[in-house]
Amino acid sequence: MAEVAEPAEPAGLAALLAAAPPRGVIARGLGRSYNNAAQNGGGLVITTTRMNRIIDFDAENGLVTCEAGVSLEQLMTAGLPRGWFVPVTPGTRQVTVGGAIAADVHGKNHHVAGSFARHVASFDLLLADGQVCHVTPGSEPGLFWATAGGMGLTGIITAATVRMAKVETSRVRVDTVRTPDIDETMAHLSQTDDAYGYTVAWSDCLARGRNLGRSVITSGDFAGLSELPPKDRRDPFRFRPGSLASAPPVFPSGLVNSRTVALMNEAWYRKAPRSRTGELQTIGTFFHPLDGIRNWNRVYGPAGFLQYQFVVPFEQEATVRQAFEKISAARAPSFVTVLKRMGDGDPGLLSFPMAGWTLALDFPARTPGLAGLLAWLDEAVLTAGGRVYLAKDSRVPPGVLAGMYPRLDEFRKLRAELDPRGVFASDLSRRLSL
Ligand SMILES: Cc1cc2nc3c(=O)[nH]c(=O)nc-3n(C[C@H](O)[C@H](O)[C@H](O)COP(=O)(O)OP(=O)(O)OC[C@H]3O[C@@H](n4cnc5c(N)ncnc54)[C@H](O)[C@@H]3O)c2cc1C
Repeated sequence: MAEVAEPAEPAGLAALLAAAPPRGVIARGLGRSYNNAAQNGGGLVITTTRMNRIIDFDAENGLVTCEAGVSLEQLMTAGLPRGWFVPVTPGTRQVTVGGAIAADVHGKNHHVAGSFARHVASFDLLLADGQVCHVTPGSEPGLFWATAGGMGLTGIITAATVRMAKVETSRVRVDTVRTPDIDETMAHLSQTDDAYGYTVAWSDCLARGRNLGRSVITSGDFAGLSELPPKDRRDPFRFRPGSLASAPPVFPSGLVNSRTVALMNEAWYRKAPRSRTGELQTIGTFFHPLDGIRNWNRVYGPAGFLQYQFVVPFEQEATVRQAFEKISAARAPSFVTVLKRMGDGDPGLLSFPMAGWTLALDFPARTPGLAGLLAWLDEAVLTAGGRVYLAKDSRVPPGVLAGMYPRLDEFRKLRAELDPRGVFASDLSRRLSL
């Protein structure tokens, strides 16, 4: 339980901070983080989604200035007709600009474009003392890189200027390849990194033996105008957001289990072409398939699910392989299992991305043996020099996290200087002493 404020203007925010309750205040965007990063039991949560105005769009240079509650979908709707797409998009476009900066989100183009903060020219940050600071990576590098990935704990971002990416159409030219095992999956991803702007592997986490880590890899780039069929060239930036279907309100717990996921994985893998090139896909199909089903999370039933994402450096391929071995041996049914190569990380003190392999997994919360499996993964990731993602973690022990984020103490020190009263706090920050 928390009190929730939904201001429509940033003007009253400082007063809310001045009257902060003992359990503190946290900003919340569209609530798409997979944990309690934007929750604050017993305290105040400030939802930014009514502060959602686009302030300026420089169509010549692709620079957009907007309030922090603007969603990436809004930026796409505003940008595409002028030939601009968001520089980085996560697997859902229902996230705010504030949330994208605070988690320093990454997308299928991380290996070439880096994470979201790299494309942020500036933001306005409301600090704990009520001052608003205009922050650029050049003028305030410490504050900029503590806030990018800082999970809302340095202040409330009220507005930001983002550099968009130029596109000629809204369609993505996609190549698909089916790989029979983990070795070929990783080899294919490594060999084709330079060839595509966007790439990701969907993996079958339950396959074992010679099928271990079999995957469907989709890679692509935005299509040029001349690549569209003539009938589509009249409207090259067509973009129709909106859910296609809604998941029924109640699913029984236990519907997503190792048997049903094994069947779905088999069907998905078999349905994918062995190899196909040049298929034109919409933004929704390629980037945000889950946005097409409203309330998709209900499929997991009332018990819910748990998301786990880690990254390990490139020389730690063995850890990725062992993770697949452990998960498939434990019959832990992650339906959405995504493997990807990341490029270099940015200087964000708590930013997740680093050069290496990232694996994202979705497990039904009641999977037998899940706690032990994830504790094993924590240790394996830590030993490999990797880390878990703070926008998704809901269970890693604080001591393990400190080993994963070597600049955590620097972050804590800066936070103590910026916010001596401890105005900003979330359930996540309390659990991990961030
Ligand atoms: C289906 C799905 C797919 C996803 N795919 C990816 C992916 O591919 N890559 C990826 O990186 N992430 C992914 N995510 C996670 C998501 O992108 C991040 O959790 C993102 O931060 C959510 O943004 P939000 O606006 O919903 O923020 P919230 O979830 O509301 O908040 C997230 C954090 O941002 C802080 N915050 C929010 N607004 C502000 C503000 N104005 N000022 C300061 N702090 C603020 C909050 O305090 C909190 O700590 C995915 C999530 C879903 C549901």
